[in-house]
Amino acid sequence: MYTVVKCKGCTKIFEVALEQPYLICPACGCSFHRNTCTSYLECEDRAVARSIATSLDELIKGRAIPELTPEEAETLQRAYKEVYQKFLERTNAKGEIEEENRKKEGYILFE
Ligand SMILES: [Zn+2]
Repeated sequence: MYTVVKCKGCTKIFEVALEQPYLICPACGCSFHRNTCTSYLECEDRAVARSIATSLDELIKGRAIPELTPEEAETLQRAYKEVYQKFLERTNAKGEIEEENRKKEGYILFE
C-alpha cells in the first residue's frame, strides 16, 4: 500500500510506502513522521499513487493556501473509489472469462 502525502516543509505532494514511518521530501529534503503530515489517499499501486500525487501537486501549486478544498478532497476520495471499483469489476470479469476458457479447455482435455 502507498499513501499520497504533502511535505510539511515545501508543500510538495508525493507518494510513499505506507509502512514507512519517516518520510523525506524528494523536493526539499525535509524529513518528518507520516502521522504529522497531511495524507490524501491510500492506494495499492505505486504508479497510480504517483500519478495522483503529481496531479494534486499541479492542482495546488500557486494557490494562496496550498491545500485542497474540502470539496476537492471529497471528490478525490469518491473518484478514486469509483475508478478502483471499475478496475476490480474488470479484473473479476476477466477472471471469469479465463475460468470459462479453462473449463472449455478442461472439457476438451477430458473428452
Ligand atoms: Zn518538501
